[in-house]
Amino acid sequence: MKVVNCFNERPVISFEIFPPRPNASEKAIERFYNNLDVLAGLKPAYISVTYGAGGSDNNSGTLDLCCYIKKHYGIEVVPHIPGINFTKSAVKAYLEKLKTNHIENILALRGDLPKDGNIKGDFQYASDLVSEIKRDGDFNILGACYPDTHPEAKDSVEDIKNLKCKVDAGVSQLITQLFFENDHYYQFLERCELANIDVPVQAGIMPVVNERQIKRMATMNGIRLPQKFLRMMAHYQDNPVAMRDAGAAYAIDQIVDLLSEGVDGVHLYTMDNPVVTERICGAIKTLI
Ligand code: FAD
Repeated sequence: MKVVNCFNERPVISFEIFPPRPNASEKAIERFYNNLDVLAGLKPAYISVTYGAGGSDNNSGTLDLCCYIKKHYGIEVVPHIPGINFTKSAVKAYLEKLKTNHIENILALRGDLPKDGNIKGDFQYASDLVSEIKRDGDFNILGACYPDTHPEAKDSVEDIKNLKCKVDAGVSQLITQLFFENDHYYQFLERCELANIDVPVQAGIMPVVNERQIKRMATMNGIRLPQKFLRMMAHYQDNPVAMRDAGAAYAIDQIVDLLSEGVDGVHLYTMDNPVVTERICGAIKTLI
């Protein structure tokens, strides 16, 4: 099923997960699949699976994991494809595998620039990959977008023009980069409206459990951290359990506000963490 059809019943709640690292120990893999059981039991509308996110080489498990989720839980999947890692012929071969496995959805990305800066693939921008996928078959294509503006864009106007080109190339739904200030998302939706971007835009929400990790991600991705969020992290940085609980509470607060505003959907960056994801889903169960 094409997951764009999920928006017939809004709001759409979906998850992002990471595949285990290729060199993960047996114990870590077992833990991963136990966690996946819990996440799947929360019945998200679909699960998206990252591909080497963060510029790492953690790329081998995406397709296998998607097939496993679809077969084992009957949940729709969205493999991420970062174009900078793919040649044209590699994309063609990958799409064939998706067709064979009845996977109809793709999150088409440019990809995080690799640490050594060397781009191996044929696609400079996500929109180039979108056009290539469109030529090759009947896929439902998702794209990424940036309420705090993509860090490489000159400004928010240029970024939204580029986003319009990507949507026009064939993207039918968008997922935002994580953000911690809902007003930035609402202002971004206004810019989308002005640019005639009229596909559903799911809000990407990440519950924060680790201060160092989020500060690194924020710096890398140009995500603005509001004062009240920084205060919260500074206060609980030495107490991991309190940080986890405060991070979940902050995410719930954001989601309640988004749902009250009639958001198209929320894509939870689960970081494969079942405890926090379960807590968030429990808290919003009656609001959907
Ligand atoms: P693009 O849409 O190509 O945009 C990148 C930059 O180029 C922007 O500044 C844009 O304004 C500009 N631009 C776009 N088109 C043009 C043009 N025609 N001319 C000039 N400038 C242009 N990375 C991974 O490696 N693996 C993952 O699994 C992964 N998952 C992600 C999931 C989500 C929901 C999000 C939000 C990001 C994810 N990323 C992942 C990170 C993503 O690859 C990076 O944010 C990357 O820097 C940009 O990707 P994009 O697809 O948005 O690129």
